[in-house]
Parts: sequence; structure tokens; C-alpha cells
Amino acid sequence: MRKIEIVGGGLSGLSLGIYLRRRGVPVRILEAGAYPRHKVCGEFVCGVSNDVLDEMGISDVFAQARRHQKLAWWMGDDLVLQDHLPEEAIGLSRFRMDADLASLFEAAGGELITGMRAHREDADGRVWAVGKRKRGGKWIGLKVHARDVDLEGLEMHVGRRGYLGLSGIEDGRVNCCGLFRINKAVDKKNMIASYLKVNGLNELHEKFCGWDIDGDSLSATAGFSLGVQEKAGAFCIGDASLLIPPFTGNGMSMAIESSWLAGPWLERFAKGELEWDAACLAYASSCEDYFGKRMRLAGSLHPLLFNSTGRGLLKWSAVSGLLPFGFLFKQLRS
Ligand SMILES: Cc1cc2nc3c(=O)[nH]c(=O)nc-3n(C[C@H](O)[C@H](O)[C@H](O)COP(=O)(O)OP(=O)(O)OC[C@H]3O[C@@H](n4cnc5c(N)ncnc54)[C@H](O)[C@@H]3O)c2cc1C
Repeated sequence: MRKIEIVGGGLSGLSLGIYLRRRGVPVRILEAGAYPRHKVCGEFVCGVSNDVLDEMGISDVFAQARRHQKLAWWMGDDLVLQDHLPEEAIGLSRFRMDADLASLFEAAGGELITGMRAHREDADGRVWAVGKRKRGGKWIGLKVHARDVDLEGLEMHVGRRGYLGLSGIEDGRVNCCGLFRINKAVDKKNMIASYLKVNGLNELHEKFCGWDIDGDSLSATAGFSLGVQEKAGAFCIGDASLLIPPFTGNGMSMAIESSWLAGPWLERFAKGELEWDAACLAYASSCEDYFGKRMRLAGSLHPLLFNSTGRGLLKWSAVSGLLPFGFLFKQLRS
């Protein structure tokens, strides 16, 4: 059987590796970092079905996760929406998730090489799962874990030029993760608190400053752009292919779903039933069918959060009960 080499051992690369190993395909993953590690991410998974998790063979990784049923949405200091989520969301740290997936991949007989940054060289059978790549953007993502925070469900706090999401994860912790327009004036030693303040999230800033913060979990990523990514090679999965705006909380789901779409084509290539170019084309077309609608909708809603007219419209429709929250939630996921 032909071997598959996956560059990048994040959520998409590891999920795909496990899927292929369970079908007897030889797989090697090259990962630049090591496990466990903290990563900028809202750490709530929403949208991927239990059937897909089962088919991928990764359901057990999420068994210990927190489950969320409720969402509260804030605009500045005003609570504008409280609702039940149309479907349950999973709260699990990337620290735990990626390390557990890596162990599962190795237990399934996969070859995992960490501390190895692969050069950009495309080849038949090589899959790029290297995360977001498009540079030159004006965003910074920041995340940290807090202990002993009283939180029910998920919270989203939208400020003038960015937002912060709160999600309960394992061990009673809360993940605080934000996406902000880069602002050179913020206090570099206290970035999250400073971004909350300059974005007018004053009440959240007060609360955040009183929380017991786990400094070791602090992570940052800056300068990326959203949307279609600059291709690393012919076969890209996860963020390396498409980066959906983070407010949707759908990026991890898409990372898993893109592996699920990719798996059968790669299995056929490995078995010699399909040539590489045909596998690449078939996968690209299934991605457009599967993700096209949600990418377009997310891309059109995202700018509304970053201008005062758009935010005013969202706030008015949320407060007056006219925001079709359940409908939009579902459209952003299928
Ligand atoms: C601020 C922010 C908040 C978010 N919040 C959420 C959320 O709440 N819910 C959600 O579902 N999604 C969220 N996302 C998106 C989610 O984090 C990503 O969609 C997901 O991590 C994509 O997985 P991936 O495997 O494609 O990439 P990654 O998880 O980024 O993995 C890529 C891996 O490739 C490795 N790598 C890169 N280059 C090389 C190389 N040359 N050689 C070897 N290895 C390499 C990296 O070390 C990394 O481990 C958020 C994103 C941001 C920026």
C-alpha cells in the first residue's frame, strides 16, 4: 500500500491520521511542535456530528469534555441575547485534545515525528495540515485559562474592534479567547486585559482582572488573514485550506470534517485505486460543496462585528428578538 505523509499534527492532521490508520493505511505525521501544548483557540467545538466523530474513530477524546447548552451574547457592557444553543457544544482544551489525539494516532500504529518543520515541497501522497498560512492580516488572537470562574454555557463579548469568548473546559477551568484588530498602543505585559479595555469591554475587563489566571496557558498568534488560504500544496486540509472567521466557533469542526471528506479519497489513492491528481480534484470539489455556503455566510457576517453600524444592527435585532439566531447558527454549520 502507498504511504500517506501528513505535514502538521494539529486537529485536522491527527484526525486524518487516525482515520487512515484505522483502515490500514501507512501514515507518517511530521509536526513542528510537541505535545501537550497550549494553542490560541476558543476551545469549544460545535457543528461536527457524533456520526462523523465515530467514523473518524476519535469520539473517546471528547468523552471527558464539558458540554454546553446555553449562550449569552454581550455587546460592550450590554447583555443582548441569551438562548439555548440549537445543538450542544463541546468544551475541551487544545492542551488535552491534541495530546490525546497524538496518543491515539500512535496507538493505532501511526508514525509521529515531533520537532520537525517540513520544507515546502509538494509530492504525491503528501497532505498539508499546517494551519492558517495567509499572512499580512490585521488580527491578533489571544487566549488564556482562568480558574474558579462562575460561568454557565458560552459567553461572547463583542467590543469595538474585537471580541472575547468564554468557554468552560475540563477541570472546571474557563478558556478566555479573543480576536482583536492589532493595536500597537496596548500594554504588552497584560495584553488580554488591555485589549478588553481599549475595545470598551469595561465590565468584562474588571472581572478578568480579578480572575485566577494560569499564566502558563497564555498564547498568542498575530498577522493572519481569514478566508481561503495561500495553498501550501495540492492537498490541504483544515485551516490550511479554508479559515472561517472564529466567531462562528466552527473552525475545529471544519478541521475534522475536512479530514473526513479527505479520508476516503486518500484511502483509494493508498490502495492504488486512484491517481494523486484525481484524488486532489475529487477532494477539492467535495470541499466546495460541503463548506462553500457556510464560508460565504460567515464572510459576510464577520465585517458587521467590526463596524458601528453593523454592531448597532446586530444589537437592535438581538434585543428586539428579531435576530434569527437559531437559523444563522444552523446555516453556519452545514
Ligand atoms: C482566535 C481564534 C479563536 C478560535 N476559536 C475557535 C473555537 O472556539 N472553536 C473552533 O471550532 N475553532 C476555533 N478556532 C479555529 C481553530 O483553532 C482552527 O480551525 C483549528 O485549530 C484548525 O486545525 P488545523 O489542524 O487545521 O490547524 P492547527 O490546529 O493550527 O494545526 C496545524 C499544525 O501544523 C503544524 N505545522 C505548521 N507548519 C508546519 C510545518 N512546516 N511542518 C510541520 N508542522 C507544521 C503546527 O505546529 C500545528 O501543530 C479559533 C481560531 C482563532 C485564531
